[in-house]
Amino acid sequence: MNLTLTFILFLFAPAIHAKAQELPSCRALSTLWVKSYYAKLNPSWRKAPLNCDTEPAELTPKERRNVLAARAAYVLDRTRFSYRPQDISARPIVSSGRIQAPPRSMLDWVSRRMDRLVYNERATYAFAHRNNGVGEVHLPPTDFHMTRPGERGIGLAAQLIHEARHLGIPDYGHVACGDTDQYNCDATISEEFDHGGSHAVAALWLSWVYKFSHWPRSEKRRAAETVRWVLRTRINDGHAVRNAFSLRYLGTPLDP
Ligand SMILES: [Zn+2]
Repeated sequence: MNLTLTFILFLFAPAIHAKAQELPSCRALSTLWVKSYYAKLNPSWRKAPLNCDTEPAELTPKERRNVLAARAAYVLDRTRFSYRPQDISARPIVSSGRIQAPPRSMLDWVSRRMDRLVYNERATYAFAHRNNGVGEVHLPPTDFHMTRPGERGIGLAAQLIHEARHLGIPDYGHVACGDTDQYNCDATISEEFDHGGSHAVAALWLSWVYKFSHWPRSEKRRAAETVRWVLRTRINDGHAVRNAFSLRYLGTPLDP
């Protein structure tokens, strides 16, 4: 290898690596969990440091719940997004709306809406409700299965955004899906974090994760898959709107 090429590689390699994002070490995450994130999610289980001495696959269900919640809090709080001014000054897809970048901390966004996170052993799906005015997000045990040891918690983070959105600001309830009596859809998409339904806002954040974050490609692909699922099955608006959203954020057309 000649000297010039070596020098060029030296110049570029750190820049490429600096862009990638990863979770902090287990001990650093544990400190964040105990000192900050636990209070922001206010979970129904006791505060405890993360178990950093055991492989993720060997953790007890309660330890895994702690680790996964901490990871979800981290990705909500610290996901870095890189975008250009024209990305947010483009013409909004829904004419009444505008384009917003995510707030500085999505964890604070969740925390402002949700008062308490309840681990609900009897639940089979996630839901939000007000218990004497206290905004509770209930999550079933299945939301805390760590399917891969390297699970970053991005799916759980999106779930928290979805449920927290139900609790404000103001409270939000789904509309019927098309002509059915299943109230599990949103009327349209959203490019704003201050507005839009639960599916729409969670899908918007996942779209930003896909397009503008620096998480590993495998995580971004999973995020994009969820966005496609939402666009296909949970948004009532016409194909043109859903397709425009898919083209803008995922870079591919949406199958009819
Ligand atoms: Zn919902």
